[in-house]
Amino acid sequence: MVLDAPRSELRLAEVPDPEPGPGEVLLHVAACGVCRTDLHILDGELDRPRLPLVLGHQIVGRVVRGGERFQAGERVGVPWLGWTDGTCRYCRSHRENLCDHAQFTGYDRDGGYAEQTVADERFCFSLPDGYPDLQAAPLLCAGLIGYRALRLAGDGERLGIYGFGAAAHIICQVARHEGRRVFAFTRADDTASQAFALELGAEWAGDALGPPPEELDAALIFAPAGELVPAALRATAKGGVVVCGGIHMSDIPSFPYELLWGERNLRSVANLTREDGERFLALAPEVPVRSEVETHPLERAGEALERVRSGALRGAAVVVPEA
Ligand SMILES: [Zn+2]
Ligand SMILES: [Zn+2]
Repeated sequence: MVLDAPRSELRLAEVPDPEPGPGEVLLHVAACGVCRTDLHILDGELDRPRLPLVLGHQIVGRVVRGGERFQAGERVGVPWLGWTDGTCRYCRSHRENLCDHAQFTGYDRDGGYAEQTVADERFCFSLPDGYPDLQAAPLLCAGLIGYRALRLAGDGERLGIYGFGAAAHIICQVARHEGRRVFAFTRADDTASQAFALELGAEWAGDALGPPPEELDAALIFAPAGELVPAALRATAKGGVVVCGGIHMSDIPSFPYELLWGERNLRSVANLTREDGERFLALAPEVPVRSEVETHPLERAGEALERVRSGALRGAAVVVPEA
């Protein structure tokens, strides 16, 4: 499925099979998770995609050939971080997520809305057994970037999660596993997401713009709505942390300094390191994280994206090429 230009529909196309270069593996795609970031690319909110482009950066695939790290037939996962230079000041200080020349899967490199794709083997992950392909796919961005956001939120017990989509449904389970109390903040009328959050162990779910039932120690914002930033700061106790987990957000409205005062921290989380991925993929089966997915055939990837946009989804959307 090819994106020719922002704000156009994905186009079903026959393209030449990708050819792996040195250190790259050719993969048969088994499943590819759909991420909110894909929508930001589609909508032109991330403005420098390679075009034409194959979207998709939560790829579960099987190695066909290429590289040295994996055997043919081995199952691997391909995340958003597709390549780094290894030499810039960020890479040299264990911050490859901030690499000046990083290439991202499904943005700078073709991704997984396809039957085949190519990936740099150094950035692929082995996937835990016990996760079918469909359930493994959302671990690769929703899961591991959500996990990075959770780590950066510190150890606070009372955790608010704003926006209860793919990342939240996974991270809620991890947070409960760590013994935290989870409060889920959604649109006031989104009773389906609120019920889903309660099923997954949140102790409260309600209106994101209303008052919280009690102060939070930390908040994760997964919805791309800037007005949630002052709302989350207002809900967070002194010394607390608010982490914005998305790659794009609407403008943040101005707010009184008082909301930040009291040593509250406001920060974003950007991309992932391979270490984040290794750590999260080891943790997921211990929780165990159960990802809920809604599957769509590859040629209906456009509809899958609109499902993510609508917020009507329960868990994560995954596209699957025809067998
Ligand atoms: Zn993503
Ligand atoms: Zn770098």
